Amino acid sequence: MHPFELITPATVSAAVKAQAGAPTAQQGAPIRYIAGGTNLVDFMKLNVETPRQLVDVNALDLSSVESLPDGGVKIGALARNTDVAQHALIKERFPALSEAILSGATVQLRNLATTGGNLLQKTRCVYYRDTAFACNKRNPGSGCPAIEGHNRMLAVLGTSEHCIATNPSDQNVALTALEAMIHVTGTKGERAIPITQFYMLPDSTPDKETVLEPGDLITHVTIPALPEGAKSVYLKLRDRASYEFALASAAIVMRTSGDRITFARVAMGGVGTVPWRSHEAEKALLGKPATLVSFRVAAEAALHGARPQSQNGFKIELAKRCVTHALTLATQQA
Ligand code: SF4
Repeated sequence: MHPFELITPATVSAAVKAQAGAPTAQQGAPIRYIAGGTNLVDFMKLNVETPRQLVDVNALDLSSVESLPDGGVKIGALARNTDVAQHALIKERFPALSEAILSGATVQLRNLATTGGNLLQKTRCVYYRDTAFACNKRNPGSGCPAIEGHNRMLAVLGTSEHCIATNPSDQNVALTALEAMIHVTGTKGERAIPITQFYMLPDSTPDKETVLEPGDLITHVTIPALPEGAKSVYLKLRDRASYEFALASAAIVMRTSGDRITFARVAMGGVGTVPWRSHEAEKALLGKPATLVSFRVAAEAALHGARPQSQNGFKIELAKRCVTHALTLATQQA
């Protein structure tokens, strides 16, 4: 591991000021925020990340989970994954988020990992993690060996000729279905970013994963109240039952009236280069009877345009079945 300097600012503004001084890659090693460190420290050990300075934000007062007047919740960026998943407000109002977090990683990791860090979780693409290989995301312009190589776990939606890496997070899929807002403080002040506008498709710049600018610090996430009577569920399919990333997952928010679907949101994980919201599936569901036939039509719509690689074509049918089954589960609760 490369040597680095550690600073511990006491305020958000001091943290932003410290991190905003990060030079570009051409100018030298960057400055990174660190909270739980469950992702960043791994990459530092692998020399994928070689920061010259870490801005430790753990002393900031950003770890609460609070109810909002509209029935939503505010989750501090430093709220630990375990605390969020087990919080009564989250379990009662947004069970999909609790289920998604508890389906990821291990207890030990969830005890340390934070809400803000999870939003910025890096891909599990094996080439990204190994500096012996080229990788456009780690080293822009160097190539993408995954396209001709090991791509079984990688994406079928939102890919480009430059990168096919999957966003690995479960939390972020649930937050997408719940229409979370990401609140950020930067050098120009505070702003809120809808989660569907937070992540960037790889296109020709896979190294740029979010709309965050130098200095931007995620301070909290808000989730608005769901429509009256709507329920949320999260379903994850993976190679083994624990400590494994999704091959396909689905977060559903749904409400039915009689046998008709009156409200639906569909998000998918494990298949997209970003947490994948499917407005096509939602459109296919609205006003239709809550039946397996309707769910399968929606699942087909959700995977429309999916592009398989040499080893991951199975994910397309798997994701369709995942969405279909998650919609069935949501109907049973709605
Ligand atoms: Fe790198 Fe993306 Fe290609 Fe993986 S898929 S090797 S992360 S460019």
